[in-house]
Amino acid sequence: MGAASSGLLRYPRALMRWSQSFHVTLREAPGDAEVVSHRLLSRAGMIQKLAAGIYSYTPLGFRSLRKLIEIVREEMDATGAQEVDLPILQPKELWVESGRWQRYIDDGILFHLEDRKSGEFALAPTAEEAITDLVRRSVTSWRQLPFNLYQIRTKFRDEIRPRFGLLRGREFLMKDAYSFDVDQKGLDRHYEKMETAYRRIFERCGLEYALVQADSGAIGGAASEEFMVVADTGEDALVFSDAGDYGANIEKAVTAPLAEPWAGEEARPFGKADSPTPGLITCEDQARHLKTDVTRITKTMLYETIDAAGGVRVVAVLIRGDLDINEVKLPKALGVMHAKLLDEKFLPSIAGCRPGFVGPIGLKAPDGQSEVPIYLDRSMENARNVFCGANAEGLHHSNLSVKRDLKAAGVVEVATAREGDPSPTGKGTLRIKRGIEVGHIFKLGAKYSEAMKCEVADQAQKMIPLMMGCYGLGVGRTLAAAVEQSHDDDGIVWPVALAPYQCALLSLQRDAEVQRAADELYESLKTAGVEVLYDDRDERPGVKFKDADLIGFPVRIVVGAKALAKGGVEVSTRREKKAEVVPVAKVVEIVKATLAAGARTLAVFA
Ligand code: ATP
Ligand code: MG
Repeated sequence: MGAASSGLLRYPRALMRWSQSFHVTLREAPGDAEVVSHRLLSRAGMIQKLAAGIYSYTPLGFRSLRKLIEIVREEMDATGAQEVDLPILQPKELWVESGRWQRYIDDGILFHLEDRKSGEFALAPTAEEAITDLVRRSVTSWRQLPFNLYQIRTKFRDEIRPRFGLLRGREFLMKDAYSFDVDQKGLDRHYEKMETAYRRIFERCGLEYALVQADSGAIGGAASEEFMVVADTGEDALVFSDAGDYGANIEKAVTAPLAEPWAGEEARPFGKADSPTPGLITCEDQARHLKTDVTRITKTMLYETIDAAGGVRVVAVLIRGDLDINEVKLPKALGVMHAKLLDEKFLPSIAGCRPGFVGPIGLKAPDGQSEVPIYLDRSMENARNVFCGANAEGLHHSNLSVKRDLKAAGVVEVATAREGDPSPTGKGTLRIKRGIEVGHIFKLGAKYSEAMKCEVADQAQKMIPLMMGCYGLGVGRTLAAAVEQSHDDDGIVWPVALAPYQCALLSLQRDAEVQRAADELYESLKTAGVEVLYDDRDERPGVKFKDADLIGFPVRIVVGAKALAKGGVEVSTRREKKAEVVPVAKVVEIVKATLAAGARTLAVFA
């Protein structure tokens, strides 16, 4: 184990007397702090907001950040990856070459600016372009491969809703790595190595995490998985099989085919607009009124899609009334770039009614389109004897039988997985938990190397595009995720590896005995290699206790006149908060053993 995990002192020159440091805690959390990590990191004086989604780290906060950076760096280096430092300010031309400039501008995520000669630049939201450019200018032959390059650098994204403190910043620290290989086998190997390295990183941080299948989003590419810190406040919904063999982001999750309520039924004659549903626009209300089950109501949703060539079309997607369409899965399933719900103002001209009564029969294609193609979610593929909107206010058709009555353009799998659905692996039932995405690993393949001509001569002297992988890890977000996962009513409960200091030493009174004992303990802890913040301020004991709990040092030592008179000091862990009086001579040994064991409970020696 390296110095980082052995508990040796790593910042010997740092100030450790509170009276001489820049540490300021706050009684109140900032008004905009919605999640616990934002509240506690702010109140502990570890971060401070400069503007929405833009934060300063104070000396205390930066110590924790640096520890995390070191863990990430050690584990990346251990895989053989090499650290680089790429520019944040990147010319537009590179982003046009990869095809991402316009897309990122349209999404509004890109911070961009002009120089004095009207040259346009992006502030890097990620660095595939810059790394591909570095590599294509440097390598010519397969002999120079493989390698994996990483950096730990600031990224910029103009997020729609910058909030939750460090969890979703507009300026944030990311570790991003990019692997280069001549073939898929090499890429697979790099991907596996990164998965292992990430596991080690999150384990060393003391985090409970899960690895789930993911959507590859705007970065593109094929396989991708996310590392998720499991926490109730997470923005992501994660789907797990209780059999333990499946985990996926809800953006990607599928289920086994659901039981079909119409199985074994004969198709009954179609009932044209024969079922009134006056003023009832939800499937549940309609089902109740029609005295049927909600699985017998068909939802017809109209989407506006944009394909890769920029072609715009309106399509209808049918799904069973108890299910919802997953709008992340939808564009991929339809083979388009974007799919967004059609604005209600177009419904009268296309469907002739308002939402709630739209149906697949008789849709009028908009100008320039021959028909409105009808896609069936898998749940509707064999549907028989179901209700669907009649494209008229307050009316439904009955006994729609899809195979008989509709000409479908295709069957897609676009339903959102639900708690209790059957697992796609055939084993177990799906459960949903919340999580925070802290890492994302992708097999990009040749997406960027083809677009940007990052090629080498292979053994047969043929030019081939390199196979790339990219591996992101949110450094600031991971720090905040650790707080989301580990805190109580009084403050943060830092895992030992990420605590700004491993131990807090509090002197309770200003009398000479107490001062001298505390000073001596402070020196012996330092000598023993324990990182200790010595709260020697002229403050009331209550203030010191509150601050130590708020900042969340894993171990606390309290020197007070009463215990000292009997030759002891009080030692406790932040997690348990059960103080034991320990002989002064034993403190260092006990603190070291407690820290080495993760500071869950106090190590006690006879
Ligand atoms: P999200 O879905 O949360 O917006 P993303 O999928 O866009 O994230 P990636 O492009 O995969 O993010 O970036 C790699 C990692 O960088 C993420 O796994 C996350 O840990 C971190 N990250 C991304 N966006 C932010 C942000 N706005 N603030 C802090 N960390 C971020
Ligand atoms: Mg991601």
